[in-house]
Amino acid sequence: MGKRIQLYIHIPFCVRKCRYCDFLSFPAQEFEMDMYVRQLIEEIKVQSRFYTDYTVSTIFFGGGTPSILKSVYITNIMSAVYANWVVEASAEISLEANPGTLSQERLLNYKAAGINRLSIGLQSANDTELKVLGRIHSFEDFLTSYEYARDAGFDNINVDLISGIPGQNTDSWKNSLRRVAMLKPEHVSAYSLIVEEGTPFHDIYGSEEGRKLLPDEDTDREMYHATAAILREYGYSRYEISNYARKGCECRHNLGYWTGEEYLGLGLGASSYTMNRRFHVEKDINNYLHIDMNRDITPLYEDVQELTAEDRMSEFMILGLRLTRGVSSAEFAERFGINMIDRYFYDIDKHIRHGLLESNPPYIRLTEKGLDLANVVMQDFV
Ligand code: SF4
Repeated sequence: MGKRIQLYIHIPFCVRKCRYCDFLSFPAQEFEMDMYVRQLIEEIKVQSRFYTDYTVSTIFFGGGTPSILKSVYITNIMSAVYANWVVEASAEISLEANPGTLSQERLLNYKAAGINRLSIGLQSANDTELKVLGRIHSFEDFLTSYEYARDAGFDNINVDLISGIPGQNTDSWKNSLRRVAMLKPEHVSAYSLIVEEGTPFHDIYGSEEGRKLLPDEDTDREMYHATAAILREYGYSRYEISNYARKGCECRHNLGYWTGEEYLGLGLGASSYTMNRRFHVEKDINNYLHIDMNRDITPLYEDVQELTAEDRMSEFMILGLRLTRGVSSAEFAERFGINMIDRYFYDIDKHIRHGLLESNPPYIRLTEKGLDLANVVMQDFV
């Protein structure tokens, strides 16, 4: 098989900023979105010249809120991708969408443009919690969007949820999980809230006093364990620390990240890992819009980092251990030409003895206990 690449396309616009969010996203006027999409299409064209021997296996529109864009923009972006890249017929093509930005017409147009997977940011089924987070939508809005998406023919839908919201208790978290699972989406992502610096949440909950207003550690653990138990009841398997899917519905794009596939990030601030280098696109929108990529593409990139074999092995371990199936010694040998157990014998052996890792040939994986202490284990592979 020839070389394959995943494309990530960043749409940095949102209706307004959620109070916990530190993603590269902001509100914008229509004309700014228009300028951005034109520049993005230019980038898609110029970049394709460097990847003529690659085929595209997955495409992921992330943000921000990609669904804030009028559907004609998504159609134009996809046309540029199809015109300049070789996209596999079975490519998974996902788009992140937020309730409150979706209409029936928009969804039908996305479908026609080639989008075949939707990832809907719900976060909670409780309207008070949604308000605390600063989300623009209610649970009812989500239900409407979800129904529109099914009606438009989307048969591969993810729903995002967040636990650990200020004021949330285990019962309300369980309720959110059940309300979502009852709708039978193909995939559920369940992340814990992280209070990021530079967000309004950090001003309130970042201090020692503020942290007391968040669910305590025991509640947090309770929620974490309830997640796997409830989703299992509804037929979902955990395949990554925070991701659950029905059989065969794992997100191929994200699996690619965790198994060391090459990916190219297009658009403001987007990260890439290709040809043994990591880099990201310029993060300042004004600078981004004024780069003449046809003349010289280098000003587009920041923080270009050449990865040594040692760096790549370490990443392969850390990312692979996020998967419940674990990290494959066979793939490791194929990729790096050495034996994974020999290379990391001391750390693997230590964590097996402590019950945090286990062997399930050809995989080494975290145990249930290890999943709880994943950070401790991963530190040793840095
Ligand atoms: S919708 Fe998502 S990207 Fe936009 S502000 Fe909210 S959390 Fe951030």
